Amino acid sequence: MTGPISRPPRRSALLRATTVVAAVVPLCTAGWFGWRALDHSDPAAATTAATAAPPSAAAQSGAAPPTGQAPATPGAPPTSGTPAGGAPTGNAPTATPTETAPAGLAGRTVVLDPGHNPGNFSHPTEINRQVDVGNGHKECDTTGTETNAGYTEADYTLDVSRRARALLTARGAKVVLVQDGDRPWGPCVDERARAGADAHADVAVSVHGDGGPASGSGFHVIMPAKVVAGKADNSAIVEPSHRLGLLLRDSFHAATGEPYADYIANEGLDTRSDLGGLNLSAVPKVFIECGNMRNSADARRMTDPQWRQQAAQGIADALTAFLTTH
Ligand code: ZN
Repeated sequence: MTGPISRPPRRSALLRATTVVAAVVPLCTAGWFGWRALDHSDPAAATTAATAAPPSAAAQSGAAPPTGQAPATPGAPPTSGTPAGGAPTGNAPTATPTETAPAGLAGRTVVLDPGHNPGNFSHPTEINRQVDVGNGHKECDTTGTETNAGYTEADYTLDVSRRARALLTARGAKVVLVQDGDRPWGPCVDERARAGADAHADVAVSVHGDGGPASGSGFHVIMPAKVVAGKADNSAIVEPSHRLGLLLRDSFHAATGEPYADYIANEGLDTRSDLGGLNLSAVPKVFIECGNMRNSADARRMTDPQWRQQAAQGIADALTAFLTTH
């Protein structure tokens, strides 16, 4: 989820600042409703989420994937790089042994940004600190959303990012995760944005799951609008990020069968100017909202480790295409 997760007055200020970008409003609204349902209308649930053990061992370990989790579009072939008959079965997101062209991405560096952090729930003071994103201020980081069963977005994004890292590493890339479950909270969105430059990366992707209205489903990719304001100037990355966004939209759809979002964006694509992770990035970067965790069908898919492997495949294939076609 990349909508604002903040106190209502702050949301109002944010909306005032962003209403010039009409496309921003629906996701802010969707994110806000997701936030209200998750974090405020049921404080007890939020407390539980903040303190409980990881919510779904099966979901995290891959030990017991739900049945009947074939891709929503059975005819959609996996994209290049998928091993034959390659439904992954293992728990750990390791590279499949039949992965081909291991040196295809040698010398290239990819930053994967797993959205949020499982520890954010217990560090509200730290993550609510305001940071400068060039054209305004945003919370350092947010808790993200979760499914009704309590599978958190932060756990989802970290798992998929690790799976994508394994695939890309097998193809020869150096992969840097902005956070790898190795820090108590965050990092802040401005640090996430800097990670691409810090790693001298060629490209970056931020992985999320959305917290939209329960009736809406599907995935979408968020590309950077040009922002030249304050310390932000992302003009150099707008065009290549758009190219990356199209590749990611197509690869993710092919790998997972997930439809384009029907409640936000247009044909699976959105452009935003309010995300620090895009405003402040010096390398081509997009966000992907892999599905709507508040929707039961999407939640079922996102909780399935086999589907998450397909999601990682789609992300890895898009990055591979991006790095090998220009
Ligand atoms: Zn998110």
